[in-house]
Amino acid sequence: MGDVHPFRGKADKPAKPGCPICGKRSDTDHRPFCSARCKQVDLGRWLGGDYRLPTEEVAEPEEVIAALGAGEDQAPDR
Ligand SMILES: [Zn+2]
Repeated sequence: MGDVHPFRGKADKPAKPGCPICGKRSDTDHRPFCSARCKQVDLGRWLGGDYRLPTEEVAEPEEVIAALGAGEDQAPDR
């Protein structure tokens, strides 16, 4: 838990090559990756390339129906 160090100053040099996916400098929040995206890419490789982003949400059917209904209501005649 000694992540925050007041004398960290010049210890900022990356000791490792960085992100194993794209090679960029790794981010402290996502190391050894540079971003959540590369983290997902790596995870996807582990899972065989077939994976979904956890942030992806499927719309509720009711919302879709309501949206379609509202759209039809306001749609001009064709
Ligand atoms: Zn990366």
